[in-house]
Amino acid sequence: MTHYHPAMGCVRVIGAGLAGATVAHLLHVAGRAVEVVEGDPTWGGQLRTASAAGILYEPAGAHIFHTADAEVWRLVTGLVRFLPYRHTVRTEAFDRELSWPPQLSELRTLPRWPQIARELAARPARPDAANFESWCVGLLGETLYRELIEGYTRKQWGEDPRNLAAGWAPKRIELRDDGYTDLFRDPHQGWPEGGYPRLVDALLRDVPVVMGRRVTVDDWDEVCAGADAVVVTCALDEFFAEHLGRLPWRGVRLVNHYLPGVEHALTCGVVNTPSPLRAHTRAIETKWMSGQTGPGTVVSYEYPGAPARHYPIDDVQGANRALARRYLEELAGLPGPPRYVAGRLATYTYIDMDQVVRQALNTARRILGEV
Ligand SMILES: Cc1cc2nc3c(=O)[nH]c(=O)nc-3n(C[C@H](O)[C@H](O)[C@H](O)COP(=O)(O)OP(=O)(O)OC[C@H]3O[C@@H](n4cnc5c(N)ncnc54)[C@H](O)[C@@H]3O)c2cc1C
Repeated sequence: MTHYHPAMGCVRVIGAGLAGATVAHLLHVAGRAVEVVEGDPTWGGQLRTASAAGILYEPAGAHIFHTADAEVWRLVTGLVRFLPYRHTVRTEAFDRELSWPPQLSELRTLPRWPQIARELAARPARPDAANFESWCVGLLGETLYRELIEGYTRKQWGEDPRNLAAGWAPKRIELRDDGYTDLFRDPHQGWPEGGYPRLVDALLRDVPVVMGRRVTVDDWDEVCAGADAVVVTCALDEFFAEHLGRLPWRGVRLVNHYLPGVEHALTCGVVNTPSPLRAHTRAIETKWMSGQTGPGTVVSYEYPGAPARHYPIDDVQGANRALARRYLEELAGLPGPPRYVAGRLATYTYIDMDQVVRQALNTARRILGEV
């Protein structure tokens, strides 16, 4: 596996997704020898862009870069040009298409508004954080919760929302009365011209990468050979052959429809479908993000329940997080040079791209300071 002679000393990075690629880039720029080992035949991890008749789409899931972190934004925009896209989402509910997050001004026009208004007036001062459902009903009332959230959540997680932790709900669910229709309030938002692989290409341009080599704990000696630090960005349950048990993940599958001659098929980049009568959770039209114009478009329908490690599952009891911590302890207990974890897989957290880049910046700084 190794390219560097052991005497030279390098930082070896497992995984060439955004986390691994960013750490490797930063170390390389700082003058450190670095080598990345990637399990897939191509790099980029979740960040994929494909094209049908020249129309760009994201076959592994839609990605919008948004951040309030100026250093992260400077780093990525210093590598590739970002188109000034601001993300809006709409949702199919109450037999029409509404803004997402919901806006009170639109809800007031619904025939069911009197009932919704009564429920909103009866809300507790603070939502009950016992579980995901209790928190959402506390914020939105029963009618809005059932119509906008429940079906989407059951489909997305394959779980009763009462078994899901409330922890991440405040970040995702809100009720607005300010007419602000962008999904994110972050000052910096965009989509890399030509797609995300260009960003990963730019990060790895001058970095040696071994591709198609999936490593496990059995390869640890080889991973450490000649390395004075190792950065792990892969899933730890897989790395340790699940010997403490499998960490549950929820995955999505996209079905992509090319529509010749159609300029736009959706009203915006993403339209949610919370109805339990439809199997998909959302439709995505990347053409809104890519800024492409002219005839022809691709609409991607997202179906949850695929066997992929996309979203860690935050159960109410916290059992999954506890297992993830045990795997981290296993990694820490291995012999060899200092090792660092970064990215969504190794940390068993759902993190956005800007948080991944922030983790990579912090990790690279720690390595440069400590090793
Ligand atoms: C459906 C979906 C939509 C998303 N939308 C957004 C969005 O709109 N905005 C946003 O900011 N973020 C979004 N994200 C999150 C974003 O994709 C991640 O934050 C980011 O891509 C994670 O990068 P990573 O390097 O941590 O992980 P990955 O992208 O998973 O990269 C890990 C890499 O490690 C490799 N690897 C794994 N195991 C091994 C092994 N054993 N040996 C060697 N290599 C290995 C993999 O092949 C992969 O290349 C979305 C995620 C998903 C799943």
